[in-house]
Order: sequence, then structure tokens, then C-alpha cells
Amino acid sequence: MQTNQSRASLPKDKPLGCYAQSLEELERIKAAGLRPKMLLHACCAPCLTRGLDLLSGVFCVTVFFYNPNLAPQDEYDKRLENVRVLVAAWNAEYGTDISLVLPEYVPQEFLSQTNGLEAEPENGARCSVCYALRLEETARYAKQNGFDCFSTTLTTGSRKPAAVINPIGAELGRRLGVPFFETDLKKADGYKKSLVLSEKYGLYRQHYCGCAFSSK
Ligand code: SF4
Repeated sequence: MQTNQSRASLPKDKPLGCYAQSLEELERIKAAGLRPKMLLHACCAPCLTRGLDLLSGVFCVTVFFYNPNLAPQDEYDKRLENVRVLVAAWNAEYGTDISLVLPEYVPQEFLSQTNGLEAEPENGARCSVCYALRLEETARYAKQNGFDCFSTTLTTGSRKPAAVINPIGAELGRRLGVPFFETDLKKADGYKKSLVLSEKYGLYRQHYCGCAFSSK
């Protein structure tokens, strides 16, 4: 594991591409000794384990915990606390310098966007809106704060389709002018690895996706 000492921008003539290209890109960035700044949206600590496992040795990662979908507040607090615990443990173990950005928790931002979609099944239209809401805020912050790219840990979840999430991120990246780094973190036994790492760090693993509708 490298430390986050040296930073460098991504070459502007080689934009980040699809998931398969992203894996090649990881190797290329490593080989070139670059250390691009990535804003990594984290949905929860268990999924973040896999994100850090794959990405923190290559990128200078800042974790962005923006999840207005979470309900009730106690659940938000519990997931946030576990993200804090994981980031601190990771920095201590690997000598990284990962920081955590916490936008204000405003559940109404999610509820107003998903109004009328309450009865949608998981992975239906409500979820696409939910992914886009969280990724758009991540992209906006990344652009405003000089990050080289942004990504998300959402694709770690066994029921979270990279084929839906990645195009949303890529389109937002194009629109807002900051590259989206596509992943499918559940691949290559990624989901299983997240379970092992969650156990190792003693992390809380939730039993529902996050919003009040998914808890029913
Ligand atoms: S089920 Fe999960 S992804 Fe879908 S709207 Fe609820 S919190 Fe968001």
C-alpha cells in the first residue's frame, strides 16, 4: 500500500472510460506513478472497504458521505460512525491520508426527488433517481474542489447493478466536467472481500438498502 504523499493530475488527453477500461487505467496510473485525486462517494462502511481496497493504493482518495436517502436519522448516524471508524483504521494501518467530507444531512432532498416513486421495487425508477442524486452532488463537489475524478462504492452491493450506476455517473461526469471512474466493485470476489474486511474491522452491516421504503 502506498501513502498519499505524491499527487498528480490525470492526463487530459486520456479520459477515463468504461469499467473494463478502468481496470486497465488502474494499471496504467500505477505504472506511471501518478496519484490522481479521487472523490469517492461512500454509501456505507462495508461497501467502502472494497472501494479503499481497490482504489486507495492508486488514487489520493477523499471519502464523500452524501446519503440523504438514509432513514431514520439513527441509521444515518450509525452508518456514518462506521465510515469514520473504517477511515481511521485504514489510515492507521496503511499510512494513508484519507479524509472524510460530510455534506449536511437533509432527508428532504431525497424525499422530494422520489415523490411519487415510493412504491417502486428495489432497483426500479426510485433507485435510479437515488443514485443520480447522490452522484450528482459528488460530481459537483469534485468539480468545485479540483478533484481529478469521482467514483462511488455503490457497485459493491450484491444487488446494486453496475450497468445502471456507471452510465449515470459517466453522464453526470460529462455534464459537470469531471471524469467518473467506472467500477464494478463486487466483481473479482469483491463483495465477498467486503464481508471479510467488514468482519475484520468490526463494522455494522445493515439489513436494508437505506431508505424508509426499502426497510419495509
Ligand atoms: S432502495 Fe436503496 S437505492 Fe433504492 S431508493 Fe432506497 S436507498 Fe436508494
